[in-house]
Amino acid sequence: ASSPKNGGRVRTVDFTKVDVNRLPTVILVGRPNVGKSALFNRLIRRREALVYNTPEDHVTRDIKEGVAKLSDLRFRVLDSAGLEMAASSGSILDRTATMIAKVLSRSQFAIFLIDARVGLHPMDAEVGRWLRRHAPGIKPIVVMNKSESLDDASGSLTTVTVEARRLGFGDPIAISAETGLGMADLYQALRPLLEDSMRRMSKDECSEENSSCEETSCCENDESKLPLQLAIVGRPNVGKSTLLNALLEEDRVVVGPEAGLTRDSVRVQFQFQGRTVYLVDTAGWLQRTRQEKGPASLSIMQSRKHLMRAHVVALVLDAQEIAQEKRSMKHAEVVIARQAVDEGRGLVVIVNKMDLLRGKRNSALYEKVMQAVPEEIQTVIPQVTGIPVVFTSALEGRGKMAVMHQVIDTYEKWCSRLPTARLNRWLRKVMSRHSWKDQAAKPKIKYFTQVKARPPTFVAFVSGKTRLSDTDIRFLTRSLKEDFNLGGIPVRIMQRSMS
Ligand code: GDP
Ligand code: GDP
Repeated sequence: ASSPKNGGRVRTVDFTKVDVNRLPTVILVGRPNVGKSALFNRLIRRREALVYNTPEDHVTRDIKEGVAKLSDLRFRVLDSAGLEMAASSGSILDRTATMIAKVLSRSQFAIFLIDARVGLHPMDAEVGRWLRRHAPGIKPIVVMNKSESLDDASGSLTTVTVEARRLGFGDPIAISAETGLGMADLYQALRPLLEDSMRRMSKDECSEENSSCEETSCCENDESKLPLQLAIVGRPNVGKSTLLNALLEEDRVVVGPEAGLTRDSVRVQFQFQGRTVYLVDTAGWLQRTRQEKGPASLSIMQSRKHLMRAHVVALVLDAQEIAQEKRSMKHAEVVIARQAVDEGRGLVVIVNKMDLLRGKRNSALYEKVMQAVPEEIQTVIPQVTGIPVVFTSALEGRGKMAVMHQVIDTYEKWCSRLPTARLNRWLRKVMSRHSWKDQAAKPKIKYFTQVKARPPTFVAFVSGKTRLSDTDIRFLTRSLKEDFNLGGIPVRIMQRSMS
């Protein structure tokens, strides 16, 4: 790595094995004490940081730089904590601001931290205005740090979320740099940005005439048209590889390392009805599948990593095993299915090897499996009704189209955004349609809005001291799913009181 241009001094360098110069740069900004250094340390883990001294105006301040690793993403991360945006009579000191502006000019992205326990501080708004002025090209990702102790049920997280949106930089992400909570959400927010930037870089390197540059999807506004990240998970021998081969048969396959990802990360990409689908973590998965053939265990930790990267998780089960046992799903499978939903991913369940249950002798078993699996999924994941279940024979290539249709349908629902006006018309209807045993218990919801997609997340503003009970939330969730065709995916409703 080279020394910084501002005459700083390099203390430590350890950018091993990575071509740092090609990595996109993300700067961490925020007022003092929001946890920038804590997040920086989490992102670079034990790797060493590069520290510049920027002697200016007789004060020596540090900017830390390191290579961040977040799942399969690599990026350069700059911590401006050493250059505190100290406030002087309400405005950021010019001197430090100039220094940060310099660093900002070398960054393509910013993570803007606020302290979730404090809520939106006037100084945060100041930082936001400052960012707009000095880096109009950067739309920061707003991160509400220290949210590990904030309770969603009590509405405190919702309150901060609503406040943080007022910064005007879109949906904030709740994290805890200390415990690691929310890193999956941060990953999901960063990944498309970083990938876009890597793509643009490689496009710039192409000659103008070379029109064969792929990927125009980054220009799309409709999120559901963006490439879909699919994870195929399941215990060894259930037929994941066979299913994948069946899916790929008629499609173009591209296998190769990608810029911005780890070198060993290989991705399978295929087209399905004009849509790009990426298979998450193919390399690791294929390797594992090979290694794990012996002991029939499903690595829960590995799958957790998959889930973090996936938009939709396809959980494959073995029909013959189900036919032979009382319960459809093994413990590990239940854990994975629950994790997928808890992490807000779309879930599609695939019951494979149905061909083994064909024939007269097996017809009762066939029926049993067809009925038992959806029922059991409903029992183990009661919060999401209508999770799609597809019955396949990967060996015979049967059911693969249905798998892809369900995967894409789930993805599209997962990306839905409903306009506020429509939601409020709906709310009035639903509230008048439903009768409460005790009229006094009828929740007084003033306003209902979707704060985020992927998965769809809503906020209900309730008046005064009233609170929505769990039953109310379940009722609203159910109605929302029925009326807007959002069945089968996790949908979140939060509440906030409004005077
Ligand atoms: P910076 O000034 O923005 O770099 O903030 P620091 O990273 O130095 O953190 C300020 C304080 O907040 C320290 O005492 C941290 O231990 C604490 N802190 C940072 N992240 C978290 C978090 O996620 N949860 C909690 N509870 N405390 C945190
Ligand atoms: P993975 O470990 O989950 O990737 O499973 P594989 O795709 O390697 O399949 C394990 C075994 O199950 C292989 O012998 C496959 O031929 C067989 N298999 C996979 N799908 C089916 C199916 O739909 N029907 C039948 N009868 N066998 C299958």
